[in-house]
Amino acid sequence: MKFGRVLAVIIVISLLLGAAAYYLSSRISHEYIGNVKTGVFHRQGCSHLPCEKNRAYFSSKEDAVDAGYRRCIVCWP
Ligand SMILES: [Zn+2]
Repeated sequence: MKFGRVLAVIIVISLLLGAAAYYLSSRISHEYIGNVKTGVFHRQGCSHLPCEKNRAYFSSKEDAVDAGYRRCIVCWP
């Protein structure tokens, strides 16, 4: 009986940690990718993403616009 309770607590804690980790990773993920050469920014997964060395990462559209980037006409972030 006691073992079952400990197990339940462990499961609850790991679920909470998982949710927290997911929340944090979604907060700090770089959702928008700018091309430092062209000054255009894209959504992740756009077929027109620049190569790694020309990328600038932004967590929000506003950050990208404030940095002087404009939206990609293909993925329209
Ligand atoms: Zn794009």
